[in-house]
Amino acid sequence: MDRRPGCISAVGGSGAGAAVNFAARAPGSGTNWVNLTGRFAHDREVSMPPTPAHRYDRGLMWFRRDLRATDNAALYHALKSCDRVWCVFVFDTDILSPLPRADRRVEFILASLLDLDEQLHHMGEQAHHTGIRLLVRHGRAVDEVARLAHRLGVQAVFANHDDEPDALARDARVLGALAHHGTMFHTFKDHVIFERQEVLTQQGRPFSVFTPYKQAWLRTLTDFHLKAYPTRRYAASLAAPPDGVEPAMPTLQHLGFEPTNLSTLRVLPGSEGAATLLEDFLQRIDRYDHARDYPAVKGPSYLSVHLRFGTVSIRLLARTAWALHCQGHKGASTWLSELIWRDFYHQILANHPHVVTRSFKPAYDAIKWVHGKQADALFAAWCEGRTGYPLVDAAMAQLNQTGYMHNRLRMVVASFLCKHLGLDWRRGERYFAEKLNDFDLAANNGGWQWASSSGCDAQPYFRIFNPVSQSERFDAEGRFIRRYVPALAGLTHTAIHAPWAARPLELASAGIELGTHYPIPVVDHATARQETLSRYAIVKQAG
Ligand SMILES: Cc1cc2nc3c(=O)[nH]c(=O)nc-3n(C[C@H](O)[C@H](O)[C@H](O)COP(=O)(O)OP(=O)(O)OC[C@H]3O[C@@H](n4cnc5c(N)ncnc54)[C@H](O)[C@@H]3O)c2cc1C
Repeated sequence: MDRRPGCISAVGGSGAGAAVNFAARAPGSGTNWVNLTGRFAHDREVSMPPTPAHRYDRGLMWFRRDLRATDNAALYHALKSCDRVWCVFVFDTDILSPLPRADRRVEFILASLLDLDEQLHHMGEQAHHTGIRLLVRHGRAVDEVARLAHRLGVQAVFANHDDEPDALARDARVLGALAHHGTMFHTFKDHVIFERQEVLTQQGRPFSVFTPYKQAWLRTLTDFHLKAYPTRRYAASLAAPPDGVEPAMPTLQHLGFEPTNLSTLRVLPGSEGAATLLEDFLQRIDRYDHARDYPAVKGPSYLSVHLRFGTVSIRLLARTAWALHCQGHKGASTWLSELIWRDFYHQILANHPHVVTRSFKPAYDAIKWVHGKQADALFAAWCEGRTGYPLVDAAMAQLNQTGYMHNRLRMVVASFLCKHLGLDWRRGERYFAEKLNDFDLAANNGGWQWASSSGCDAQPYFRIFNPVSQSERFDAEGRFIRRYVPALAGLTHTAIHAPWAARPLELASAGIELGTHYPIPVVDHATARQETLSRYAIVKQAG
């Protein structure tokens, strides 16, 4: 039977997503969350139970970047194949150690774990199982998972795929440690609609250009890929921790971190937070295709941090976008494309892991970036929003103050770093990795390699964003700049984009002395442009 989701019959709000590894692909039933029209619905069961490939007495579900109890592939398979299932999250010291001591992401995860604990507890109660708790551990994942698996006497550990190279290396170590005690380790696709080599060219190779990838992605899509995993149906397998195994939910202090300003921002954690954002976004998704480009406008969904930590299911979002796209909603079609970009970069990382350290296109590694003291000073000015270009500085202030940056601005500041300041894109990539709440290696690397022209399907090297015309076009009234660079608030709509070009009288009446209240530009656009074209000439020579 062809289960391709045609736009005539809208995809239903129920079912199971694709699973790989040992388990058979498993159609199932629904979500109790937002349905296709954005209203809340209740679980709708459909009777297509898959045949379990394995049966275990005890299993352990290991949550990582999938912090939700509904529509979770690994949790579904764990509950379905085991009589008793415990759930754990590990605060991995290998990941936590290098982070700054005040990190919004750690706080977001902690708050989302409290929500997940609640969800599991509630799911258990609905199945008449009391005392269900999420177990939380703090240490090296390989030690903690193996120790807990042994202590609970489980025969299998279940988790969802994470294709970042460090995560794959960690999982290989966990697999080894578990195998030592004869424990199985099963992993599943959950984080994307299509992963690894599921969408290939006719020659059987991974795509490196987005548009044909998107077309193939849409051709490959069936109802099945958008269905939710009905975890609730198997909730009776959830087991309360035995005596002597403490839930051990830590505090931020216990983890060695300090509070951030997260609670003052509109970053609501957990699945509840994601549901609130999605509901809000669905009211304005129709305007997404044009509103998304203006940083002062509430245009995008702001769901990236939830996609990053899995507090929302990608299947729910893609299903919602798909259904609206089929009804002819242009905004939803554009948003669906963005979700496909996300899959695109994930398969690039999985198939070309060299991008983590090198350019996707090897010729670009020959570019000579600026180094030394002058480069360090320029980099510091960029990080701290002191370049003298108002839109760039406002964008960096948004990042530093909130951990979020609007997509248009990510493109502008990334281009500015490599094509105006002549700095290696990897420096900017690392700064984003440290600061972004939604930092995701695949999307961040893809975005930076796109901006520096070194990536697959990147913008041509000779295309250099002009930060002033970008500002005039996308923040015409300077509303965004005024919010994040208050020193410039007194300037007119026309002068705010390039204060150095303003008349002295205009600057004086706005109370601004350049070099005192706001920096003189660190580079001249025309000169920087010429230097960049010369710097990138080596790429042209390489053909
Ligand atoms: C230099 C640079 C670095 C970036 N770093 C990251 C990052 O670390 N993490 C991250 O999630 N996104 C990154 N992006 C992509 C994009 O900027 C963000 O996903 C988006 O701004 C998040 O806001 P939103 O959820 O409101 O997006 P929306 O516009 O509502 O889009 C919905 C979702 O689609 C996905 N998406 C949208 N645009 C892209 C894109 N260009 N590439 C991949 N996925 C996309 C995201 O998951 C996003 O949450 C980067 C882009 C650039 C140019």
